[in-house]
Amino acid sequence: MVMGPTHAMSGAAVGLAVAQALPASWGGVATAQEAFVYAGIAAGAALLPDLDSPQATVSRSFGPLSLGLSHVTENAAQALVNLTRGAKDEYCGNGHRTATHTIWFGFLAGAAASALIAAFGKNAAIGLLFLFLGLAIRGLVPSWSKKNDWLVVTGVAAAISVVAWTVVPHTASALVMGSAVTVGVLTHLAGDFITKNGIPALAPFVPVSGRRWWDFGLPAPLRISASGMADKVLLTVFTALVVLQVFLVGSGMSGVDAGHVVAGL
Ligand SMILES: [Zn+2]
Repeated sequence: MVMGPTHAMSGAAVGLAVAQALPASWGGVATAQEAFVYAGIAAGAALLPDLDSPQATVSRSFGPLSLGLSHVTENAAQALVNLTRGAKDEYCGNGHRTATHTIWFGFLAGAAASALIAAFGKNAAIGLLFLFLGLAIRGLVPSWSKKNDWLVVTGVAAAISVVAWTVVPHTASALVMGSAVTVGVLTHLAGDFITKNGIPALAPFVPVSGRRWWDFGLPAPLRISASGMADKVLLTVFTALVVLQVFLVGSGMSGVDAGHVVAGL
């Protein structure tokens, strides 16, 4: 499997790329700070699908609260599979890597985020940043999970969010900011697709061979092994892509306006 840090880092890298690619005339981000907020949300959202596993480190980001939510998510996912499974689908005894590992979940989560931001503006955007930063920090520094330190993670996420609330101008449309969640989730799915036994990306709407919860995946020989060398290579590549893009965005060499970064700091 791709490990937490690789999921979070790939979400940040893809998030930064998408933030720069979306034209401001489409409601895209117009400032460097917003590009970083977008990437922060995408990095955390790239861990969101694994909230269906109470064992995942990310499920401990917010202590008992996220752990409880994780159990609810797993049980709800399991129930959904058993409600919608076809005649050839086996009974689902564990909801991990099911409902939250479909593209529909990615679109729904993004739509919900967009609706929240459309209704509550900047406050909702920063609230989402706080939630997803908590996941991202936990994903990037999984060794913390050995300690009972979720209050530290929560504190750091809150501190960054408060700073973001004061220095980040709000120019991007609600639809664009919410799309950061979809970008993150889809990046997670791509990571699981190349590494795991597969993900039911299109379930339960597109049956394959009579199975509604068909797992799409690479043929076994092409799969990247769990926490092996390939995972380290991927993590290194995505880290380099993040560093490069942070430089490009922060220095104003990419399309977005970096003037506010200097002014804001
Ligand atoms: Zn996963």
